[in-house]
Amino acid sequence: MFQGMKRRWINSKLYAMENDRLKYVESTMILVKDMVAFPVVRAILPEAIERTDYLLSHSSIVSPMLIGNNDVELIRLSVPANNDLVQLSIFPFFSKDALLSSDMEYCRERIGFAVYAPQNHMIILNTETFETPRFMASTMLHEAGHAIVAEKEGRNNNFAKRTEKERLQEELRMWHFDCKLAFLLGGAYYQKEIGKAVTSVLSARRAGILFHVQTLGPRIGWPLDLCYGSTLSPYAIKNREFLWAIFCELIASDMGLGSDAHSYQIKLVEATYKDWWEKDMDYALSRKK
Ligand SMILES: [Zn+2]
Repeated sequence: MFQGMKRRWINSKLYAMENDRLKYVESTMILVKDMVAFPVVRAILPEAIERTDYLLSHSSIVSPMLIGNNDVELIRLSVPANNDLVQLSIFPFFSKDALLSSDMEYCRERIGFAVYAPQNHMIILNTETFETPRFMASTMLHEAGHAIVAEKEGRNNNFAKRTEKERLQEELRMWHFDCKLAFLLGGAYYQKEIGKAVTSVLSARRAGILFHVQTLGPRIGWPLDLCYGSTLSPYAIKNREFLWAIFCELIASDMGLGSDAHSYQIKLVEATYKDWWEKDMDYALSRKK
């Protein structure tokens, strides 16, 4: 009896948040469309159009609800534009959701900015990152890339395992996309700054120093403000330093390492994600019913 009352009370709180979830995703999608409306983005990076169209036609916004014996179920708040297609769930996550279950608590710990979960073909968007809306829009495009690949490979809505190599290759493809998108969004000033940083990476490499950019000091990621708008969040600033370093390394290795570029870049992805992925896969498999 008491459990039932508690559940109804929690669900009434969740119900009151539905509008915030819808608004968060809708405003992020407006920015996605804005970014992809840039003629230069459309001309040079047509994959951005594919990803946006995928989001627009496949997405359904979802929200958690407590059901039965305090299990969490994600219910649809919106229907996809085309109901005949595979549904991609978009779950705008609020930190309060972590109180609902151990899965949700795990989600809060691990989400970072956003994550794509193939086992339920869902993008979980962290609504409380203190990143700019435009950064979150570009993150959404990144995750949409993973969703498209998963559907093409028949991995959506299942626990299909992949080799480490396949995973790294896919992430690297997403990084290249992010790097190109930032390059196009940032405009001439950004392009000049990244050109200077890449030159410095290349000359460091000639002196035998690998992964040079990360040693250049705080706020090195500031040119990304030109792509995503500026942020005051220390967490976001730190992340942008890392992102900037990666973008510089990608361009520098493409320019300077010839046929070794790909394996060098794969090592960068591996160093960044290895432990993270292993933990996620262990958790996913432990929850598999
Ligand atoms: Zn990714």
